[in-house]
Amino acid sequence: MTGSRAWHLASRPSGLPDMSHFELKPVDLPPLADGEARVENMWLSVDPYMRGRMNDVKSYVPPFEVGAPLQGGAVGKVVESRSPDLKVGDTVFHMMGWREQASGPAASFNKVPAMGVSDEQWLGNLGLTGATAYFGLLRVAEAKEGDIVFVSAAAGAVGSAVVQIAKARGMTVIGSAGGEEKCAWVRELGADAAIDYKAGPVVKSLIEAAPKGIDVYFDNVGGDHLDAAFAAARNNARFAICGMIEGYNAGPPPSFRYIMRVIAARIRMQGFIYTDYMAEMDQFYRDMGGWIASGRVKSRETVREGIEAAPRAFLDLFSGGNMGKMLVRL
Ligand code: NAP
Repeated sequence: MTGSRAWHLASRPSGLPDMSHFELKPVDLPPLADGEARVENMWLSVDPYMRGRMNDVKSYVPPFEVGAPLQGGAVGKVVESRSPDLKVGDTVFHMMGWREQASGPAASFNKVPAMGVSDEQWLGNLGLTGATAYFGLLRVAEAKEGDIVFVSAAAGAVGSAVVQIAKARGMTVIGSAGGEEKCAWVRELGADAAIDYKAGPVVKSLIEAAPKGIDVYFDNVGGDHLDAAFAAARNNARFAICGMIEGYNAGPPPSFRYIMRVIAARIRMQGFIYTDYMAEMDQFYRDMGGWIASGRVKSRETVREGIEAAPRAFLDLFSGGNMGKMLVRL
């Protein structure tokens, strides 16, 4: 047996979770069977969608089980292998995060493509974060050159990728974020305007920043941001509904003041999950890899140190404690 530690779900939260909902416990990893590998995790991803998995409800991914290790994106190195497909020293990304070591069938680990980028990028702009931004903007919203794009949580992981992809494809971009420091970074990434949603009503700031209206809304937040996008939408606007973090702890908003604009402006709204586009990952790697190599897309991470830091890093997503991608380095 090999020893490792993993964060477990101690109990299900209602509202905003706290440290009492998490427990760090040792786990025994049994000796490997044929076809299996063991991985030492180096980077763990914490993501807003994990909040939904803490509830006992049916969704597109099963809920976390109380008393069981949590799961999530991770990058690590193979330290033992009984599979011809993986050798010791290979870097892999996989879904057995929230723990120091992971073991299982070799097929549950993906060798990172040889693109010469830093390991943590496989959880950021070249991982599910970047893929969500890319497919949400270009496939779901069908955003194209000349469009005016509004994106919320623009200083976060997905949002900062949306800003940069939209600029790389010749769009006008308005991003919203909480606070002037974040807004300054959103402008640095190339956004034409940035709205500090904490400084005043989003609808007022958006209409001032986009006097001609918006063609595309990339929603990471829901609530007032989505309502503001209804108000500002031009005819035939397309909304990619990626996330609604404002409601993950508080529940859905009571109402939308401007929702009837959906009819007059012929707004098309579509929710999506990035896995809908797995068949197109080669195209994503080509485009995103090219933008990263040319410096067109830049990556920024907020890094917390050590396995102990994982729950706090996760909780801090809900109060905006990150710029770019929130990661835990082991
Ligand atoms: P992130 O944006 O890096 O982190 C969350 C950010 O949300 C925080 O930094 C904070 O920024 C903002 N925020 C938190 N609470 C807020 C509130 N009440 N009102 C407004 N803003 C709030 O996280 P991410 O991983 O990139 O995810 C962004 C969104 O995409 C989330 O909604 C997530 O669930 C969704 N997502 C969807 C998919 C999919 O396949 N559909 C995949 C990945 C992510 P401020 O400081 O600016 O408030």
